[in-house]
Amino acid sequence: MVTKANAEGSETAEIGVIGGSGLYSFLDDVTEVTVDTPYGPPSDSLFIGDVEGRRVAFLPRHGRAHDIAPHRINYRANLWALRSVGVRQVLGPCAVGGLREEFGPGTLLVPDQLVDRTKARVQTYYDGVPLPGGGASKVVHISLADPYCPEGREAALASARGREWEPVDGGTLVVVEGPRFSTRAESRWHASMGWSVVGMTGHPEAVLARELGLCYTSLTLVTDLDAGAETGEGVSHEEVLKVFASNVDRLRTVLFDTVGALQAGETRDCLCSHALDGIDTGLELP
Ligand SMILES: [Zn+2]
Repeated sequence: MVTKANAEGSETAEIGVIGGSGLYSFLDDVTEVTVDTPYGPPSDSLFIGDVEGRRVAFLPRHGRAHDIAPHRINYRANLWALRSVGVRQVLGPCAVGGLREEFGPGTLLVPDQLVDRTKARVQTYYDGVPLPGGGASKVVHISLADPYCPEGREAALASARGREWEPVDGGTLVVVEGPRFSTRAESRWHASMGWSVVGMTGHPEAVLARELGLCYTSLTLVTDLDAGAETGEGVSHEEVLKVFASNVDRLRTVLFDTVGALQAGETRDCLCSHALDGIDTGLELP
């Protein structure tokens, strides 16, 4: 059942999930909440429902019709919208290519590092540029040495193991601009750097979450071996969708378990929760 709500503040959630468009239909009794932000509209409405006794806001990253390309996603609006309904912990499942033969299709990898190879994305709230509604941030430099929430990672890893889906604990997600896939040379280069998986949406999602003091945990599902790690035709979109579809049920189960395993937001004491301690951003965060 989908109930609609427009008023911000009438519906709240503590945990956000930014993921593929198929997920919200699995939540019972969702309330569809439309949210606007100083950065424009997010990818879609927020779909708020109960998971494991927690209030969860699901946001289809590419819009419900999957018509927003990775480089055109309004990442700032997405994270801001989640925070504005009360979200403090975010799970960011995404499809990736494996950069090593042992990371074949169906691998679940919970990265602990991130490399940005995007080219044209707004990736900060703190650039000092005036906002349309008035006001401007200060120029702020936050720490991103460890881009993911350590507690969220542990919850995700334990949840996968609990479902007998042995995850890869750690590794580097390199994010490319897309929407095209990599050339073989790019893919071999990424692999030779020791990076693990390649995707198109993990950046600037993680950065912006940290800038808002949100916990962010990436769960990457390998849907293909990237161009340099195999000898066939290269990656196809059909192949990615097929592998994602065949894993979506267990990924959803692991996400639900992870939601249940996250500590209550108000008791957070991780590095993410302290990201803005002592910093005047110039913005009033929602
Ligand atoms: Zn955290």
